[in-house]
Amino acid sequence: MNVKRLALFPGSFDPFTIGHADIVKRALGLFDEVIIGVGYNEQKSGWMPVDERLAVISRLYADEPRVKVVSYTGLTADFAKENGVTAIVRGVRTMADYDYEMQMADVNRQLTGIETVFLPASPQLASLSSSLLRELSHFGHDISVFLP
Ligand code: ADP
Repeated sequence: MNVKRLALFPGSFDPFTIGHADIVKRALGLFDEVIIGVGYNEQKSGWMPVDERLAVISRLYADEPRVKVVSYTGLTADFAKENGVTAIVRGVRTMADYDYEMQMADVNRQLTGIETVFLPASPQLASLSSSLLRELSHFGHDISVFLP
């Protein structure tokens, strides 16, 4: 039997950057399908409203049938389980990312049995973060070169 290998790439994507797009592209080389899960907190509105994030990312992958874009609230582990994913994919830029991601991966595996696959950030994109772009934008800089 040929089982579809499905990845969940969860994040805030506030905004979705060329670093995120790089992870999606590489995850497509490892999995049959990638769900981009736009996680949001009902108590916090975020920088870009979640519907807008969803619309922007969906448009980006409109011609890629192997990518699905959905929003979710609550625990990533629960969302991963509901979708029956093979693995969770996360990008790792720094040791700080690694420490945090190790904990999350461990908890998520204990809760659901679902493994997390870490993809090392491409070196030329490793300094890029959504929070940095929010800050640049706040101070009036054009961030469009960092957006896919
Ligand atoms: P979260 O709030 O869950 O950290 P983010 O949207 O900031 O959500 O990031 C989602 C995922 O993308 C995380 O695994 C993060 O490490 C990864 N990521 C963010 N920026 C980059 C980048 N420039 N290169 C590779 N991975 C990245």
